[in-house]
Amino acid sequence: MSKPFRTALVLALALSLPAIAGPPQPTSGSAAGRPGGAPGAASKRGADLVIRGAAVYTMDAVRRWAEAIAIKGDRIVYAGPDGGIADYVGARTRVLELPGTMIVPGFQDAHVHPVSGGVGYLGCALYGLVGRDAYLQAVADYAAKHPDKPWIRGEGWQLSAFAPTGVPDRRLLDGVVPDRPVYLESSDGHSAWVNSKALAAAGITKETPDPAGGRIDRDPKTGEAVGGLQDSAMDLVTAAMPAITAQEKIDGLRYALKMLNGFGITSFQDASVNLDGDTSYRSIDTYRTLDRENELTARVVASLWWDRHRGEEQIPAFLEARRKYTRDNLRATTVKIMQDGVMEVQTAAMLEPYVGKPGVRGLTMVEPEALKRAVTTLDREGFQVHFHAIGDAAIRQCLDAVEAARRANGTRDGRHHISHLELIDPADIPRFRRLDVIANFQPLWAYADDYITELTLPFLEARRARWLYPIASVLRTGAVVAFGSDWSVSSANPLEEIETAVTRMGALGETDTPFIPEERIGLADALAAFTINAAYVNFQEDRTGSIEVGKLADLAVLDRNLFTIPPKQISDAKVVLTLLGGKPVHGDLEALTKKEK
Ligand SMILES: [Zn+2]
Repeated sequence: MSKPFRTALVLALALSLPAIAGPPQPTSGSAAGRPGGAPGAASKRGADLVIRGAAVYTMDAVRRWAEAIAIKGDRIVYAGPDGGIADYVGARTRVLELPGTMIVPGFQDAHVHPVSGGVGYLGCALYGLVGRDAYLQAVADYAAKHPDKPWIRGEGWQLSAFAPTGVPDRRLLDGVVPDRPVYLESSDGHSAWVNSKALAAAGITKETPDPAGGRIDRDPKTGEAVGGLQDSAMDLVTAAMPAITAQEKIDGLRYALKMLNGFGITSFQDASVNLDGDTSYRSIDTYRTLDRENELTARVVASLWWDRHRGEEQIPAFLEARRKYTRDNLRATTVKIMQDGVMEVQTAAMLEPYVGKPGVRGLTMVEPEALKRAVTTLDREGFQVHFHAIGDAAIRQCLDAVEAARRANGTRDGRHHISHLELIDPADIPRFRRLDVIANFQPLWAYADDYITELTLPFLEARRARWLYPIASVLRTGAVVAFGSDWSVSSANPLEEIETAVTRMGALGETDTPFIPEERIGLADALAAFTINAAYVNFQEDRTGSIEVGKLADLAVLDRNLFTIPPKQISDAKVVLTLLGGKPVHGDLEALTKKEK
């Protein structure tokens, strides 16, 4: 499907042709509405940047292909056949000839944690390590390298290292760091592994009750805490920890932006932005600071964190934040509600008990009737609600809440979305479309890794396990499906996620059998979920998410056309250039220009 047209290679010849030879561009702003006569090449001349010879997947309404793009200022002024581009080349136009590449709209990540992820990666990072011994070695090394730090803070361990329970042991950490508290979050952020010093610092004893929405893992015989903390129980320790500094957060966000831009990402929704609390990330100010310095190299929507221990009295603070922070590249227009935990440690809220765990149905974070009231008020105030829901009960509660809001407020353009969607009861699948709820999947989770095989499938009847990550089934109903990475939980590389959505196998060769193959989706749909559909989530599909005349020039240049390679190679593709509003935020424009001709 490469596009071997070379009609405009002879630039001078093309320029000498009468203007009427140009391709029809019904939406071209420069020509439209001009009364009579040819628009004339002069009115188009002088684009800042022209890219030719590429396979341009425009992601417009008919998923049209183009070969060339012209950009002036921050906008796309041409997207069409090579034959029409010459009119846009003036004396000061930079022209890139990029045969063999594919251009897509800049990727948009609908669920990601750039500030906390960046801080985590710059701390005691356990991501990418495999097994307890590797973790302990890394913690010991980090502690030795930072003798001055009163606490060791880290993240990125996998629950599967502690299979079959997923619960870690404080004594292992005591063995490497006996003198200082250690607090390590799991890669999914729902569990913490702490040592005895950390438990002591937080005042956790066997008398400490489990907090609402949380669990202190205990020795069944003695009742003593064993070193694992689930969800709200983590707060007991973080409250005792020194706060993360503003500078650490700025450094973290800078790190994340560079990485995200490197993956072709030009926009994202931060899935948890705290407004208060000393120990948590008040990352809204971090975004504001970088935006003011012109360093916020992405269009950002902040999901303001709903404190589940409080009620609607927190809504005025959201209204205030929306007024104060929504400008330039930042919008604080969404509220994030976490409705359950995760499947692997049986904290996801389930319609039926976990197999072998009589009566255990996980955690419901917000009481369902209170959830309905909260969502109704937020919807009425014009907020988008971004839910976290993993178990089939939590997903149903979120859909019920949106249904209640619609009954009370009428149909509004709320674009509420539910993230994660690990297990959807088949009866609820048609409700996404019916309620205009966007299904926000993290497709990198939809293959049979050990989280699935060891920590999920043993606790789920096969009849229900069929509905794990049912992406194709939701898509078939006509619902809007968007994708996000949930980085730093998982890789933020959209190409890995797209590959897994298409193959239902590990993108790095982890597995070679598709997991529930009937839930695979096509490449075009997977690309849409990361571009125009995610733009829709962020209320910006009118100006981003596709490559069309008049839209912002947010785009990514890949080193190969994804439609011409085997699906298992999608994640091998590299992003050679990322443009945000026509300006490079990744890649070397000079080097690419020199490669021309
Ligand atoms: Zn998340």
